[in-house]
Parts: sequence; C-alpha cells; structure tokens
Amino acid sequence: MPTNTTGRLAYLADERDVEIREYPVPDPEPGALVTEVVRANVCGSELHIWNGEHPLLDRMVLGHEALCRVSDLGDGVETDYDGEPIEEGDLVAPTYFVACGKCAACGRGEFRSCENDLSHWVKHPDEFPHFHGTFATHYYIHPEQHFYKVPANIPEASPPPRTARSRRCSSDSKKWVSPTARPS
Ligand SMILES: [Zn+2]
Ligand SMILES: [Zn+2]
Repeated sequence: MPTNTTGRLAYLADERDVEIREYPVPDPEPGALVTEVVRANVCGSELHIWNGEHPLLDRMVLGHEALCRVSDLGDGVETDYDGEPIEEGDLVAPTYFVACGKCAACGRGEFRSCENDLSHWVKHPDEFPHFHGTFATHYYIHPEQHFYKVPANIPEASPPPRTARSRRCSSDSKKWVSPTARPS
C-alpha cells in the first residue's frame, strides 16, 4: 500500500560529517520491497567509511546490516530467496549488495562477487529510492537484492544479522543458513 510518509536517513556528506536528511518513503517497483529498519549494526567498515579511510566508499547513506520489517511488497514478490512465503509485517535480513544476474560472476553463481554489487548503496540519497543504507527509518530492497525471512523463533531484540556473512552464504542457496540463526 502507498505510504505517503517521509523517513529519515544518515547521509555521510563528508569525512565524519553526517547529515540527517528526510525523504518521501517510495513505493516499491515490481520485485522490490520497502521496509522499516528495526535494528542496524555498526559494522567495522562503517567506521572506515565515516573516517574517510575506505578505498571505494564515501559520501553515501551509511549502514548496511540490519533487521527490517516489510512494510510494502512490490508486485510479484511472494517469497524470499530461499522460497519462504513473505508478506507485509515479516522480519527480513537483506544482503547489502545486489546480485545483478547478468555479469560473469553471477553467471557462475558467485553472487557475492557480482560486478554490480554496490551499485545502489553508493547512490546519493536524492536519487530514487533514497533509502540506500540502513542507518535510516526505512530501507529499500531492490529486485535483484537477496533477502531472507527471519524465523519466527528469533526474537526481534536479537542483534541484527551480519549480512557480511550472508555475502558468503548466498553464493550457494542450497547451503544457505539464515544468518539470523547465528547472531553475531
Ligand atoms: Zn559489514
Ligand atoms: Zn552480477
């Protein structure tokens, strides 16, 4: 359902200079999901990015590991990437990278090495869908971005899943174990 609301996010405008910005919460494209961030980790990478020490990442919406609640399902989204039925209100653990499905790495099933893995995270927040990072009230999961339903027996107060781990696991969905089953 359309939200007609705004949300806030933490944008790293410069080294150690974080701005809280407000944007309209978008409607999801077909295949995408809009979520509310329940909890987010501060990963070690975040500290390097914030300090201006990361070789690739700066001037971006911070945050990439989180536990999220689905607030709006795009057309065609019926299951997570493990085939579990998904509906609004479910808790999910998204990977922070996309697997485009078109590059050589994706063709080999090595989704963690997708050549377009960070293409959404690095966008400026003025660009749709604004909520590119998880230090925010909302987070947008793209059509080609893997996510997994959090089992009902995992308490919401658990530490957010370490999606860096999911980066390794999601390369082989048959061996997939939800990262939330092993909170960090
Ligand atoms: Zn991380
Ligand atoms: Zn790819």
